[in-house]
Amino acid sequence: MNIRANNPELTSWVEIPANSDFPIQNLPFGIFKTQSLSPRVGVAIGEKIVDLFELYNAGFISKYDFEASHFNNLFLNDLMALGKDKARKLRDRISELLDSTNTELKESVHRGKIFVNMREATMLLPVKVGDYTDFYSSMDHATNVGVMFRDPANALLPNWKHMPVGYHGRASSIVVSGTNIHRPKGQTRVDETIPPVYEASKRLDFELEVAFVIGKSTHLGDSISTSQAEDYIFGLVLFNDLSARDIQQWEYVPLGPFLGKNFGSVISPWVVTLDALEPFKVEGYEQDPEVLDYLKYTGAKNYDIKLEVEIKPDNAEGKIVSASNFKYMYWNMCQQLAHHTVNGCNVNIGDMMASGTISGPDAHEYGSMLEIAWKGTKPVIMPDGTERRFLNDNDTCIIRGHASKDGVRIGFGDCTTKILSAKF
Ligand code: CA
Repeated sequence: MNIRANNPELTSWVEIPANSDFPIQNLPFGIFKTQSLSPRVGVAIGEKIVDLFELYNAGFISKYDFEASHFNNLFLNDLMALGKDKARKLRDRISELLDSTNTELKESVHRGKIFVNMREATMLLPVKVGDYTDFYSSMDHATNVGVMFRDPANALLPNWKHMPVGYHGRASSIVVSGTNIHRPKGQTRVDETIPPVYEASKRLDFELEVAFVIGKSTHLGDSISTSQAEDYIFGLVLFNDLSARDIQQWEYVPLGPFLGKNFGSVISPWVVTLDALEPFKVEGYEQDPEVLDYLKYTGAKNYDIKLEVEIKPDNAEGKIVSASNFKYMYWNMCQQLAHHTVNGCNVNIGDMMASGTISGPDAHEYGSMLEIAWKGTKPVIMPDGTERRFLNDNDTCIIRGHASKDGVRIGFGDCTTKILSAKF
């Protein structure tokens, strides 16, 4: 697919700092507000936000038949509902206006009110999430968990290589980066010789994930094939699926995760379009045994996106505890969506589907503290000398991600949350 805005040769007249997540080839969509501006749609460029409501008001995108309400909006859902072709035209037009060879916007009298400094803006949850699904699609992660809790010789359960295993999560507690999360309380039974207790979780963990946002709905009864799937995926966000391992361990049999997983999941504020990530497609792991026909696909469907997690205590130096990559997914997003809908389950605009914890084959690539500290047996030593087996109160957990190639670096912006003490 030849997308104009993805051309690595493009440069912008807007200043882009070195290593910015937001060059002219990215142009992700988000929702922001300022002290004087109500929530609205913006596009990130360097350290600025293009206010699309003002861009629309000034007539720069008038030939595309948008309405003010598409941009003067609390969420991206209405804009996504116009379809990917329309979003592609919009992104191409914004790219044209920001191109260093174009002076339409640069010399416009409206320029002042169309650009907002990121540091003066508050980013809001970009998508109204109707339903949230969490997959379990990293083979290295699933293997590590199987080795730790079951049988090293049969670490993967019998179904794992035949389908992208997942569960239905909860949408109400998905929050935007910068939202702090209280340590959850609940039932645990770490010592099986005594009855369960009610307490604050002692094993609070992050999960390094990437989620995709559904941009096109289906009717109940319909299925999406792997070849159609990309048309339904608007874009991606970083996703920290906070998990209380002790609560999870006691509650999860037989119906799976419940309260150990639904007290807070944090996403990065900018939805990076699947279009912008097109140049970063790579092959995934070879799938053996052969998958059923409805899970077969052609072409590269994984994405080379470098991911990292930093833990930073208050008033102390942080430490990068994980450096993984989205390319390590065994099941790709097209297979996940095909599997999710194969039974006729419908999807809606704004639905969010997370990858599951993304671990790579090496220990420094593990995507959760459970694996990094290997069930508490290999604590991480922080720069201040303290140890981490899981997250402490007042630790800030930061996920970052970017793809890079041909001198272009497409990033997501930080996905940040601070762990507050339990609220009794
Ligand atoms: Ca998860």
